[in-house]
Amino acid sequence: MDIYEQIDLQDCPYCGGAALLEEERGWSWYVMCMDCGSQTGSFDYKTPEERLEAAQRAAYTWNIGKVLRSELGE
Ligand SMILES: [Zn+2]
Repeated sequence: MDIYEQIDLQDCPYCGGAALLEEERGWSWYVMCMDCGSQTGSFDYKTPEERLEAAQRAAYTWNIGKVLRSELGE
């Protein structure tokens, strides 16, 4: 089962750009905007069972707009 197919991401709350779910070094997830670089915090996991849950938490956080705005472009 592909984890990416289970995750729905809304567009960036700042610029409306496309969001990307990123896995970091095999232990955490975050979501970032491909246009402006805004991103959520990291959601760590320790086991394969926690992996999907952490990805869903990252996506949920993005979708409710708890996104850190990038300093770039200021
Ligand atoms: Zn953006």
